[in-house]
Amino acid sequence: MFDKILIANRGEIACRVMETARGMGVATVAVYSDADATSKHVAMADEAVHIGGAAPSESYLKGDVIIAAAKETGAQAIHPGYGFLSENPDFVDAVEQAGLVFIGPNADAIRKMGLKDAAKALMHDAGVPVVPGYHGENQDPDFLAEEAGKIGYPVLIKAVAGGGGKGMRLVEVENEFADALTSAQNEARTAFGNEAVLIEKFIQQPRHIEVQVFGDGTSAVHLFERDCSLQRRHQKVIEEAPAPDMPLTVREAMGAAGVRAAEAIGYKGAGTVEFIVDGSDGLREDGFWFMEMNTRLQVEHPVSELITGVDLVEWQLRVAAGEALPKAQEDLSITGHAFEARLYAEDVPAGFLPATGRLSHLSFPEDVRADSGVRSGDDISPNYDPMIAKVIVHGPTRAVALKQLARGLEKTQVAGTVTNLAFLGALARHEGFGRGEVDTGLIARDIDELVKAPEITPRIIARAALTASGLDRTQAALTGFHLWGPMVRSVCLRRAGEDLLCKVMSDGADRVRLQIGDDTVTAERRAGRWILDGLLGAETHRDGHVVTVFEHSGVAFDIIDPLAIETQGAGGSGMTLAPMPGRVVSVHVEAGQTVAEGDRLAVLEAMKMEHSLTAARDGVVAEILVRAGDQVEAGAPLIQLEDEE
Ligand code: ADP
Repeated sequence: MFDKILIANRGEIACRVMETARGMGVATVAVYSDADATSKHVAMADEAVHIGGAAPSESYLKGDVIIAAAKETGAQAIHPGYGFLSENPDFVDAVEQAGLVFIGPNADAIRKMGLKDAAKALMHDAGVPVVPGYHGENQDPDFLAEEAGKIGYPVLIKAVAGGGGKGMRLVEVENEFADALTSAQNEARTAFGNEAVLIEKFIQQPRHIEVQVFGDGTSAVHLFERDCSLQRRHQKVIEEAPAPDMPLTVREAMGAAGVRAAEAIGYKGAGTVEFIVDGSDGLREDGFWFMEMNTRLQVEHPVSELITGVDLVEWQLRVAAGEALPKAQEDLSITGHAFEARLYAEDVPAGFLPATGRLSHLSFPEDVRADSGVRSGDDISPNYDPMIAKVIVHGPTRAVALKQLARGLEKTQVAGTVTNLAFLGALARHEGFGRGEVDTGLIARDIDELVKAPEITPRIIARAALTASGLDRTQAALTGFHLWGPMVRSVCLRRAGEDLLCKVMSDGADRVRLQIGDDTVTAERRAGRWILDGLLGAETHRDGHVVTVFEHSGVAFDIIDPLAIETQGAGGSGMTLAPMPGRVVSVHVEAGQTVAEGDRLAVLEAMKMEHSLTAARDGVVAEILVRAGDQVEAGAPLIQLEDEE
């Protein structure tokens, strides 16, 4: 076994590899970019080498710099993780030329599977079923259109160099073919510098089922299948193993096809053979076709680990170090069922936009496996994939494991950025998914239901208001409230541009009434937890002026200082604006009157409370735009001040 390895990656996969290496007594070297100096993977490693700027092209893609770091630190092998250099055959060659071991397949196997068209041809020859279509060299648009016609619509255009769903277009009817071809080629050229495409029959109601294989360079075994049909825009969202409703005969046929694929290219290490499966009428031995092989450890490898009890990273290290395959096919079996959900920092309502932010709080329940490359306090930076963690569960049956997943997601707490946690939770509770009725179109069909914004109830607002007013702290630490008598305080919270005013009335430190608009919520503290209207309140986290209530997968509010709002509008322009919609109770100045900063100008009644609007600076009242009794909108101009002459 190696004494020391270098991990040419970052984030969760670097941490994942180090975890196993550490358990095997293998020392680890991390590499890091400018953006990652304080990252978790650097902290976990025994040594760390700085390799350059934040952009991947200046660091994690710099093979020569990474190899030099390995030589310098005395690492004997390099684990590439996934992404970055993991499927770059030139890097593999360079690693070997430097006298180091690449923990993965040889360059030749990667090259053979690197382009989808060549891989399909090779697999066809090896007796692995491939999707009917054209994967030859002729790229003439008219010729390709003709081939598409022969295959029969709908067809899929795929970039031969494709990955991550890029350069892929579904064409439903003939007259859309030419435009789709151009746009697929353009996208492929930009993303991969290679505009060649292939044409495939589009499988209706497809399922994505992939086989985990493991080779020693000559022979291979499979570790059964994963179902990755829950996809959004061809990106996997939740994966599971084994595939639901998989007949034993089909499992054996797919496993054998995966092994044939791996052995045909002399595959060494962990790999995945992806199949597209016709799910319209149950799974059949003649109903699956090779799509591509990923010559690396996959993001979703943990579900296979949990059902087989195999640590795939351990196997990778052992086989790379020259050991034989740790187990024979007949010694591998499936126990129970596993799911993995990919937790991302992304803005789901905004169309799943990648998000950034500092994770002021991050915690997972104890009974899930959370593979993560970040900790509380870490940044999700714009430089890399915004994955926060993979939440992975294993149960005795699919139904139990799915319940564990739903519960695990419910108990996962993230503050400091928006996440797709609610979306994942909705998927875990989706009825069709629960019945195992999975296909790659499920998410798109039910997207509206899956991304429905949670209802922000007065209880949730009240829970946030308790934290915002410092009432989570113990009695002794309370400030601002007189504990011997009733007190009233107002808290203004802002969510999605809406100001929510909450009147907090304490009857002693452990009993509080909160008024939000027309609603009243009663809160009582028992054993340190707030009970709101008789129900246990959610946990919360406060970071500066942001409160996150851990209900509905995390609801964040900004705490607005009501006085700050009232004077805000009066800043530069000298115009006092209504901080919220309400009724003008009284106006306390006249035109021409000289006022000093802080003088009361008017009183506004909003959300059943009166607010004094004060002068933000010294000046003269130029104009009064409202009268007592007027109803005003938020932001309405009320009183104009001008400088004294
Ligand atoms: P990429 O390498 O870009 O990820 P893949 O070839 O792996 O592309 O395909 C990604 C996804 O697209 C699959 O998981 C599947 O959902 C869908 N897909 C691919 N080929 C077909 C096909 N022939 N018919 C229907 N769907 C397909």
